Amino acid sequence: MTSLVHADEAGFFGAHGGRFLPPHLEAPIAEVAAAYAEARNDPEFAAQYEALLTDYVGRPSPLFLAERLTAHFGGARIYLKREDLNHTGAHKINHCLGEALLAKRMGKKKLLAETGAGQHGVALATAAALLGLECEIHMGAIDVEKQHPNVVRMELLGATIVSVTDGGQCLKDAVDSAFGKFASDWEDTFFAIGSVVGPDPYPTIVRDFQAIVGREARKQILAKEGRLPDALIACVGGGSNALGLFTAFLEDESVKMFGVEPSGRNLDVVGQHAATMTLGSPGMLHGMKTMLLQDADGAPNPVHSIASGLDYPGVGPQHAHLKDVGRVEYVAASDDETLEAFQLLCRTEGIIPALESAHALVHAAKLAPGMGEDGVIVVNLSGRGDKDIDYVADKIRGMQA
Ligand SMILES: *Cc1c(COP(=O)(O)O)cnc(C)c1O
Repeated sequence: MTSLVHADEAGFFGAHGGRFLPPHLEAPIAEVAAAYAEARNDPEFAAQYEALLTDYVGRPSPLFLAERLTAHFGGARIYLKREDLNHTGAHKINHCLGEALLAKRMGKKKLLAETGAGQHGVALATAAALLGLECEIHMGAIDVEKQHPNVVRMELLGATIVSVTDGGQCLKDAVDSAFGKFASDWEDTFFAIGSVVGPDPYPTIVRDFQAIVGREARKQILAKEGRLPDALIACVGGGSNALGLFTAFLEDESVKMFGVEPSGRNLDVVGQHAATMTLGSPGMLHGMKTMLLQDADGAPNPVHSIASGLDYPGVGPQHAHLKDVGRVEYVAASDDETLEAFQLLCRTEGIIPALESAHALVHAAKLAPGMGEDGVIVVNLSGRGDKDIDYVADKIRGMQA
């Protein structure tokens, strides 16, 4: 049996993953792979990364017992892993700092990436400013309009925004544009992917930099409860915050794990959800084999979620493998359920969660009552919801009207 944790030498997690590239991208990605293989065994590199996590990000993030939420659901004790309290307000800074350090070690001068809603772009621009690297972010022209505050943030942080006017002018076109730029300009440039997706070794690199979340949570829950949790819950877009929490527990058979993807407005209509595990099939996307929402020709379907960070037609290949072997159960939460969970956490705990993270809370609500009061659940609160408040307020007004 293949490992739950590690990719094989060709970068496969079971049937998924690998490195499927056009010839002109083979050399640049091979260079990243060689550099990371060396860096991951260097204690000096790990020490640099950990120092930044402590002094800059503010780690360890707390593991918080949500007592009023627990009482509200009536069942298992619910702990929240507070990634929302990190500098920049989400888990993404963990892997952006790691990728930026790797780029610096390779002697690169510039970080290059795509962004959809702008969350990855902002975290990466932050890491670039901190480490004195240039930063170029490709973003679909429609997203540039829609996500104006994040465009302003990235520019304040010194990043250059390339507005992509090809195709549908959204995330997929930004990815194509950024890869195109990388192919022509890789001498000085590091391509920094925003989740556990893309060609090998990116799913491993991003996973390793996020695994700090679960290592901390494991120590924290053992200190607070004297035992491992019964269940872990995290939302899944590409899947980086989920693998961040899960990795340290994968070999603990007693710990159940749930990845929550968006069923959006309607699971029965293409384009109205992003439920890749529920309705997808094996396919090829962004240089990897993985589960994919696709049409008859293998082109990715349009997707929707109330949480723009979950709005992705694929998923990290390690998740597809963990589903195949039954180690993680993948479930879905709708836009409406998510809005309800978002408001509930605001009122019971005084925490405004990201809409992405609120998907995980929806599943906690379904699981906790049946587990009894001896149960223990850890939910990854992947980010804070300040970015979502205007959108949520509009939605709530719309529902009341
Ligand atoms: C980007 C984002 C996600 C989704 O990304 P994953 O790689 O699936 O973790 C989840 N939560 C927040 C707050 C995000 O910004």
